Amino acid sequence: MNEDNLFNYPFLRSLARDYYPELKSSLEEFLENNQEFLEKAAHIINRILENRNVDLVEIGSPRERVLLYISAKMLLTYMGDYFVSARYALWERRNLYEAMKNEEFEVLTEISKELGIELQLQDDNYALPISSFLKYSTVFNDKDLNLCNQLIKNGAVLVNLDVLRKIIREAFYSQFLDDVSKPVEFPDEIAEILEKYSKPIIASSIEIRKELSDLGPRNVKAFPPCMVKILDDVSKNANLSHAARFYMVTFLHKVGYENDEIIKMFGKVPDFAEKITKYQVEHITGKGRGREYQVPSCQTLGSLGLCYKESDELCMSGKIKHPLQYYRIKNSGK
Ligand code: SF4
Repeated sequence: MNEDNLFNYPFLRSLARDYYPELKSSLEEFLENNQEFLEKAAHIINRILENRNVDLVEIGSPRERVLLYISAKMLLTYMGDYFVSARYALWERRNLYEAMKNEEFEVLTEISKELGIELQLQDDNYALPISSFLKYSTVFNDKDLNLCNQLIKNGAVLVNLDVLRKIIREAFYSQFLDDVSKPVEFPDEIAEILEKYSKPIIASSIEIRKELSDLGPRNVKAFPPCMVKILDDVSKNANLSHAARFYMVTFLHKVGYENDEIIKMFGKVPDFAEKITKYQVEHITGKGRGREYQVPSCQTLGSLGLCYKESDELCMSGKIKHPLQYYRIKNSGK
C-alpha cells in the first residue's frame, strides 16, 4: 500500500494518518489550516446535488483527495441532511466500484478490513464470512448477489472479483451514511465555520427538493419519453431489464401511484410473479425496509440505455437533468 492508493480510497484512515500527520491534529486545528478544502468540498457536494459531472481528475493529488473527503464528511455530518448525504455517498460509491476493477488482493484486503469485512483467498476465489455477505448483499434485484448463486465452503462465501466489488461498495455506502447520520454536537466556533460552507448546499437542497416534490396532479400525458417507452413495452408484454423495472417503480411511486397499482401494471410482463414483484416494489418504495429509493437521473438513465430524448424537444433542449423535472414542467403546462 502506498500514498497513491489514497486517491482511490481516501477512507483508509490509518494509511492516511501515516502519510498526512496533520490528520492527527484536533478538529479546531484541522479546520483552521484547511478551510480551502471545506470550500472545495462544498463546491463538489453542490455539483453532485445538481447532477453535474464531478470528475476525479479535477482533484490534483492523493492528499487533496483525502482532505476533500474528510471535509465533505464533516459538512454532511454537520448538515445531517439524508437527501444530500445519500447523493454524495452514491458518488463515492460509484468511484469506489470503478477503482476496484483491476485491484490487487493486498489493497482489496485493506479496504475490506477498513469496512469490517474479513477477506481471504480460497481456491482462487475471494472468501467472505457469510454474515458479511448477507449484510451487504441487499441490492435490489441483483441476481449476482443472491446467496443461492454463490459457492459456500468452510463457512465462507466464495465470490469472484465483481461480486466482491459489489459487496465492498454496499458496505462502504451503508457505513458512510451511518457515519454522517450520527448526531454530533459541534462546539460553537466550529459550527460557525461549518455553517458558512453549508449554507449554499442547504439552499440548493431545498430548491431541488421543492422542484422534485412539487409535481402536481397525476398526469400520464406529462410522462417523459423514457417512461412512455417502458410503459409501451409493458403494454406489448415485452420483457423489461432490471434497470427499467427499477426506474418504472421509483418514477410511478413519486408521481403518486399506489404500490398495488404498480404491481398490477407489472402483471403484463412475461415473467411476472406477484409475490416477488410485491416484495421488490415495497423494497424500492421504502414500505418494506424503510429506505425509499430515488428516481435515477437522466445521466444514469442514459448510461443504462434507457434515455429516448431524441424524440422530444424538451429533452433535446439540454435543460432536463431529471425525469421528474421533465414531468413537473410538462404537468405545469409551461
Ligand atoms: S433526457 Fe431524461 S427525461 Fe428525457 S428521455 Fe432522457 S432520461 Fe428521460
